[in-house]
Amino acid sequence: MGPTRIVDQYLFYCKEMCSDFEPLGKISLFTILEICKASTRKSLQGINYFAAEGGEAFDGIKKLIEDKAALSMDSERLIENLKRARFYLKSDYKVHVRRSSDIADHCCAYALSDLKGQNFVQDCDHEHDQSCIECSNLSNTLNETERFIKQTETDEELLDRAVKKFQSYRESIEAWKAHLLRSINQDLCRENLLNKLSNDEIYLNLDWAMKFLPVKSRQPQSEFFDKRGISWHITVVMKNDESFDKEDSVFDEDGDALDDSQQTSDQAMSDFSIENEEDTNDII
Ligand SMILES: [Zn+2]
Ligand SMILES: [Zn+2]
Repeated sequence: MGPTRIVDQYLFYCKEMCSDFEPLGKISLFTILEICKASTRKSLQGINYFAAEGGEAFDGIKKLIEDKAALSMDSERLIENLKRARFYLKSDYKVHVRRSSDIADHCCAYALSDLKGQNFVQDCDHEHDQSCIECSNLSNTLNETERFIKQTETDEELLDRAVKKFQSYRESIEAWKAHLLRSINQDLCRENLLNKLSNDEIYLNLDWAMKFLPVKSRQPQSEFFDKRGISWHITVVMKNDESFDKEDSVFDEDGDALDDSQQTSDQAMSDFSIENEEDTNDII
């Protein structure tokens, strides 16, 4: 965002929030912005690891393709498809996943059934004979990228390294997709329990929300040591009270909660969160 827009937005904000407050003059504001430049926040604190690593993997694959862009006509198309696949995971995939679906990629029962065991299996009463354009785009793009790397790298040692790198990126992306499906399944289960909750029952969700993590990506333990003891344990209590006004119902969940169970209802979180000073030895 350019400085002019930031200043304009700030002035608008001041006017809207507190009309009798007199902000600094424009020249002073520009000087402040010149000295403390606005930058995009890149901190990954509080984001779950699956999403963070998946995002990094997409960037990594893009870089692998860009490095060889001059050698193939396909690079632009691959990068474009990669972008589309990433956007899909961030958006529509979460809406596509169902308890039961004839698209294998979207079917919770199929995806979460244990292939080897007999205890954690649910048979689907349908065929998985449909496919999803976006899920196919993701797997096709990854396959094509692997071929692209193999075709464009001639040095055997470098090729070996690039392929290993690519495979670890691919695993991160697939792990992210699997995590999304699990979190949706968990959310569906929660909704199911809440729907069945009678008036004399409560639903407790005990969770570990987050820990204040090291600010640097590789902070030595000696520097991190002081910051222990600030993990949050949260308990969200939900009750089905029919006398409650429907609009204020505790079951009104934010749609974003689907993304990650950690983000369950911010309001409830702050109400019940405890800064757990006792938990000092539990360094992750
Ligand atoms: Zn199925
Ligand atoms: Zn799909």
